[in-house]
Amino acid sequence: MAYIILNKNNFFNNLDIIAKSTKGRDKIALVLKDNAYGHGLLEMASMAKEYGVEKAVVRTIEEAQKIESFFEYILVLGRTQTALKSQKIRYTINDIASIDKFEHGTKVELKVDTGMHRNGIAMSELEEAFSKIKEAGLILEAVFTHHRSSDELTSEWFWQKENFVNVKEKSRELALEFGFGSLRFHSSNSASLFRQLDFDEDMARVGIAAYGCIEVPDALHLKELKPVLSLWASRVSTREIKAGDRVGYGGDYVAAEDCVLGNYDFGYGDGFLRACACGYKTPDGAELVGRISMDNSTFKSDKEKILVFDDARDVALFAKTISYEVLTSLKPEIKRTVAEF
Ligand SMILES: *Cc1c(COP(=O)(O)O)cnc(C)c1O
Repeated sequence: MAYIILNKNNFFNNLDIIAKSTKGRDKIALVLKDNAYGHGLLEMASMAKEYGVEKAVVRTIEEAQKIESFFEYILVLGRTQTALKSQKIRYTINDIASIDKFEHGTKVELKVDTGMHRNGIAMSELEEAFSKIKEAGLILEAVFTHHRSSDELTSEWFWQKENFVNVKEKSRELALEFGFGSLRFHSSNSASLFRQLDFDEDMARVGIAAYGCIEVPDALHLKELKPVLSLWASRVSTREIKAGDRVGYGGDYVAAEDCVLGNYDFGYGDGFLRACACGYKTPDGAELVGRISMDNSTFKSDKEKILVFDDARDVALFAKTISYEVLTSLKPEIKRTVAEF
């Protein structure tokens, strides 16, 4: 099997940088959905706790329950079938229809659609939502939104931010009217957090920046964030081939000269993207030859262990996708080891 090394120093370095922007560790809500972006839910939760992160964001209640002992606060973003009441877990209201699905006394956060048009109630539905939440006897703790273009340097981000300013104002009035306590507000993901020097919300929901693979234009000067995950594989066999020999399924690769090839025990069955075929080079310069198989990949290398990648963005660039997809594709079965360097 391939294996993953998690660089704890890099993770803590990233959290230091993030904490400077949020102005406090207590304002970091670490996004741990999808197996912590492929890094391993429990491994990352445990390191985050050690660092002093108190808040986490996940997609499902199952994820929330697995990490309950690590955090003070957990927000579940996704659809919730059975929302178990918990001191720590908060559930997202993604539309008006979902309000009466929650049991009396459940802690909820209201998501408002300020322009992405994916999830959340419409801005015009704020009053109706507050009223229904009150009627259902839910504990409304926060109102939040999500940006659709925080990683593109266009005016759209400002437009949505302005919309959310109005939502906050209206929500504060409604909270008074319906007798809710003071509300918390949050809107920033990684890219959005780093677009503002004057961050002043109650928390930021930070995913990709913590994992060190943020994809934003250079203008945002984020080079000091460092990737946490590296993927490694062990050699299964080596062989010498002659010029003109073809390698792998379909014989796609044709050797230009005599060479030694190593075959390594990872492939798309481990979640490595098949789009990353002929021509991809590892950080140490070993060239991938032929197609990726399910459990095998061949490189121009005879090393015992090969570093497949240590920055998901390099793979993403090659496979014409984003670091998020490269990382979340990695199967949970791959062994993850935390290392301090
Ligand atoms: C995934 C997600 C985030 C984290 O986004 P990053 O770009 O990884 O920081 C924040 N908020 C919501 C609602 C999300 O779904």
